Amino acid sequence: MDDDLQTILPLIGGIRLARTSGGVIENTNPATGETIGLVANCGAPEANAAVAAARDALPAWSALGSRQRAAVLERSAAILQDRTEEFALAETRDQGKPLTLSRTMDSPRAVENLRFFAAAVRSHGDESFLSEGPGSARFTSLVRREPVGVCALITPWNLPLYLLTWKLAPALAMGNTVVCKPSELTSTTASLLADVMHEAGAPAGVINMIFGTGPEAGEPLINHPGVDLISFTGGTQTGERIRRAAAAGNKKASLELGGKNASVVFESADLELAAKTCARAAFLNQGEICLAGSRVLVQSSIYDSFLPLFCKHINDLRVGDPEDSATTMGPVISSDHRNKIEAAVSAAINMGAKRADDCDFNSLRPHLSLKHSEGFFINPTVLVNSQPQWPINQDEIFGPVVSVLKFDNEAEAISIANGVAYGLSAAVFTQDTSQAFRMAEQLKVGTVWVNTWLARDLRVPFGGLKSSGSGREGGRWSLDFFSETKTIVMDHTQ
Ligand code: NAD
Repeated sequence: MDDDLQTILPLIGGIRLARTSGGVIENTNPATGETIGLVANCGAPEANAAVAAARDALPAWSALGSRQRAAVLERSAAILQDRTEEFALAETRDQGKPLTLSRTMDSPRAVENLRFFAAAVRSHGDESFLSEGPGSARFTSLVRREPVGVCALITPWNLPLYLLTWKLAPALAMGNTVVCKPSELTSTTASLLADVMHEAGAPAGVINMIFGTGPEAGEPLINHPGVDLISFTGGTQTGERIRRAAAAGNKKASLELGGKNASVVFESADLELAAKTCARAAFLNQGEICLAGSRVLVQSSIYDSFLPLFCKHINDLRVGDPEDSATTMGPVISSDHRNKIEAAVSAAINMGAKRADDCDFNSLRPHLSLKHSEGFFINPTVLVNSQPQWPINQDEIFGPVVSVLKFDNEAEAISIANGVAYGLSAAVFTQDTSQAFRMAEQLKVGTVWVNTWLARDLRVPFGGLKSSGSGREGGRWSLDFFSETKTIVMDHTQ
């Protein structure tokens, strides 16, 4: 290993700790398999110190007016915007996504999250209610929002900067202090962001960051009695542990978990639009998006005409070096994750699924240049001939694999779409507005897109049902989640 590798160190009370309790983890570039840095593996001592620092910083930060807190977010957004390219490159080297995507989606969205919540808290006002008591008595009830306290923000590896800013901005805007625990696989942009926010004026201890694995660094954080709220985005199994820890410790919790989302294409759809959008929904970010449309449900009457259109867009994907501007699909996050994805595809093929004939990618892995031969690449995979109840159509694969299923009518489409443990999102393709509404009403998910996918307005709530999580974040729902309401009732006739 290169002795000059830099180590990402925990940030506690404004200071980077030089040593941590659990050694270091190698940070690998998924495109080359090379170790590009080290990440401190924190444990209970660092989690305890980070929570203590956040508690110490809480009174002063929450007492600061919301305009001053918003100003820190705005200054952070400006610095981040100036450094878009540096953040985009760091994200791509940590995560594997195409640089063109980090540049156009991850970095700009992080800037937007910071600006959006700064504006939201600036325009947010407390509510008051005037009520009549007995006789001439009059009461005014003032409903105030107060910070919850110390928030633990735990994030996954697929959209590291994007999802961290989505939590950090409303948490800070509402006057809380935070301890962040990014994924051990993608810690770089989180660490850079903490520096940016300090440069922008965030006082020491307001943003603390610990790094390392879930069991070692995450568990002591979620179980810490000094943590008042947990905002978690990640896998459903981890979410269950968080749910239990939050219940045992009486902490507020929001869980954004996995998905097995359906894209439903009706015979009345604009087939070209549906094919293009379903392909994007399945393969953007290598399919490593909780909202990925990993099951495409196609009405039987158009199945044979839809499949070649769909595969044409997949054949256009370019798998390879994520730093090359022509690349549209990079490697998956790790060798272990690739093994899991490949095992799921092999199991489906053993059960009778087939690769779609119209898809040119007919092997699991691409052949790439020497530099990328050790990267964790997988070709886009389109499976047909499977049954809805098979594991390939029930389990979240979280990779570049999609299966195409047939249905005859709306009732059958609903039954297949809802017939999974998850309930995050769905996309419906139809030009019949009443059909779109009937479907939207019956789909058991948090978000339904009609003739589009991934269109997100930051003002709307986001979250899932069933195994996809609980709670809503986004817009005023984030402001609600990251605050406690207090009612102050005054009799102003006394
Ligand atoms: P993961 O659950 O393995 O890890 C997520 C985070 O939790 C990481 O920081 C990890 O270190 C931490 N963690 C793991 N075990 C922990 C524990 N016992 N205590 C505390 N923290 C712990 O998930 P992942 O593999 O990083 O991410 C992929 C998953 O995230 C997929 O299931 C995906 O669907 C989901 N996801 C959901 C959304 C959403 O908004 N619903 C968005 C993105 C990703």
